[in-house]
Formats: sequence, C-alpha cells, structure tokens
Amino acid sequence: MKSFQSGRRRVMCPNIDCGIDLALDALSCPKCDEPLPVGLRDDFLEIDVAHSGETWTEALDKLEAAIDFARAQRFKGLRVIHGIGRETDADAWEGPGRIRRESLNYLRQAAVDIDAQLKPEKYNRGAHLLVF
Ligand SMILES: [Zn+2]
Repeated sequence: MKSFQSGRRRVMCPNIDCGIDLALDALSCPKCDEPLPVGLRDDFLEIDVAHSGETWTEALDKLEAAIDFARAQRFKGLRVIHGIGRETDADAWEGPGRIRRESLNYLRQAAVDIDAQLKPEKYNRGAHLLVF
C-alpha cells in the first residue's frame, strides 16, 4: 500500500504484443499508441483525511487531489481513511462525525462521476475503498 505522493513506479503497456515499461502519468503508449486505462497497478493509493486536524472542507480538498493523483498515476483505486467519527456526533456540525459524513457524500458522488465503485472496507468502519 502506497501513501499519498509516495515514490513513483512504472507499469507495463497493457497491449500484450508490446509490453514496454511506461511512465505512470502517460496517457497512451509511445510505442504502440495503446490508450492507458486507470487502474493498471495492483495497489491502492492510501489517504488519511481525518487524523491531521483537518476541517471537513480541507478533508474534501485532500480527497479531490488524491483522486486526481491516483487516477493519473494508474492506481487500482483509493483507500480513504475517514475515521469512524463517534456515534454521538454522527450528525455534528463540525468534528470527526462531519468529516466522515461529508467524505462519504463526496466519494459517492465522485464514484458516479468517474464510474468507480465505493466499497466499505471489511472489518474497518473507518475506511472506504474507491475502486477505479
Ligand atoms: Zn505499448
């Protein structure tokens, strides 16, 4: 699992007759012109939007940037750690409950916009996977 803005790696061209190494942010293969889909990598980019003192608006800004970065870098998807909030503040105006709620609203809309799937992480209420 790679953290946000971790070191770059390379991927191979998905055209089996080509298969050269590609820069992760290339839009198409320079050798065979194969357009490069998102999700070429096996791993998810991980981002934590809830444990660095973020406000909920900052959390959404981080999500937006991370989604763009993860797609440009061909990650399989994004693992979003939004925290579990607290039962008592699930509807709070500010705080962890709001970050969780706003993040999930944002991710649901993003999933529709970019044709991805949003899935709760197994055994962890504090994270979701956005699968490209
Ligand atoms: Zn190629």
